[in-house]
Amino acid sequence: MIEHMKKSNFEWVNFSYIVGYHLALVIGLPFFFMKHNPSWGIWIASAILYFVSGISVTAGYHRLYSHLAYKANKAVEVALLFFATAATQGSALKWSCDHRRHHAFVDTDRDPYSINKGFWFAHVLWLFQKTEPIDPKVVADLYRNRLVMFQDKFYLPLMIITNLICVLFMGYLFNDYVSAFVIGWGVRLFFSHHTTWFINSLAHTWGSQPFSQEHSAVNNYVLSLVTFGEGYHNYHHTFAHDYRNGTRWYHFDPTKWVIWTMHKLRLATGLRRVNTIQIKERIVIEHKKELLATMREFLSTNTTLIEEKIEKVTNELLTQYSQLNQLIKEYQIRKKEKSVDKTLLKSLSLEIRALKKRLKSTWKDWKKTSKEVSFIFETDSSSSLA
Ligand SMILES: [Zn+2]
Ligand SMILES: [Zn+2]
Repeated sequence: MIEHMKKSNFEWVNFSYIVGYHLALVIGLPFFFMKHNPSWGIWIASAILYFVSGISVTAGYHRLYSHLAYKANKAVEVALLFFATAATQGSALKWSCDHRRHHAFVDTDRDPYSINKGFWFAHVLWLFQKTEPIDPKVVADLYRNRLVMFQDKFYLPLMIITNLICVLFMGYLFNDYVSAFVIGWGVRLFFSHHTTWFINSLAHTWGSQPFSQEHSAVNNYVLSLVTFGEGYHNYHHTFAHDYRNGTRWYHFDPTKWVIWTMHKLRLATGLRRVNTIQIKERIVIEHKKELLATMREFLSTNTTLIEEKIEKVTNELLTQYSQLNQLIKEYQIRKKEKSVDKTLLKSLSLEIRALKKRLKSTWKDWKKTSKEVSFIFETDSSSSLA
């Protein structure tokens, strides 16, 4: 990974800041705890600040500015920018420009934090070298956003002011300015930085790829717990404009819940989401690709028959999904018509119900076929062992 770091490109400011505060924490924390016993209030307030500034990065910098997954009202934008500035991850403009490049050129040399240059490069070392300058064409929409441009222009003083306000407020509230600085600033920043950086390192290394294997991004539920829901990274790289990263209700994605709540409070509009059927189609296509590739690579027996079966069930499933999609669309269009044809609506709804039933049984066939493949694998490996 070191060979990717050129001396002339070295980013001394980032290096001094990041290495400096890490060293200060390692050396200073034992002395601090010898003399101080921060109150519960300080710990709780720091955790809240960690959560609010972290969510401001994921809901603001990431899903709002980088991917335009929804629109927020100006007051929300001010709040998101205020707390994201306190997370000290650079301006929204620079962050979004790097991130859009990350998506467009993922895993290539133009990816600013490419995992192909090593785990630690993607995690933090990329910050120690100068990345490509902001290209106005990549973030043309953000150039038209006055708040974003203001934050970018005055980033350094704003970074200091927002952190000072948070630390001083916490210190005043609990009458302990030293603990507010050490825990509310230093320790909070340590966790805030590393959890964000994990998305570029761990979420491109450790996990599953149910949606696409064309990029290195992986889904990792454990990582979602500490990254405000950004651990469903394989889904995110496949459907980047969706305001959700975890699409099911039980997926831990607090950023999605915050955006959804803002929408209910009329503070956010235009939430973009990928249709559930499209998501299922994608899973089936990927799973089929994976099954066929593994069978061809590892099985010594003739697999033509089972391959034909997999193709047949998949095609059936995909045809039914596409028919269901069409029917639902037609139903929604007809429902909005001025003079609603109730008989037609009823027959459409019956057709949808019948198709859903057929889909259930095709889905069962699909699962059965997948199990058959596992069985063939077991018998094949035991016969080759014998
Ligand atoms: Zn990524
Ligand atoms: Zn993204």
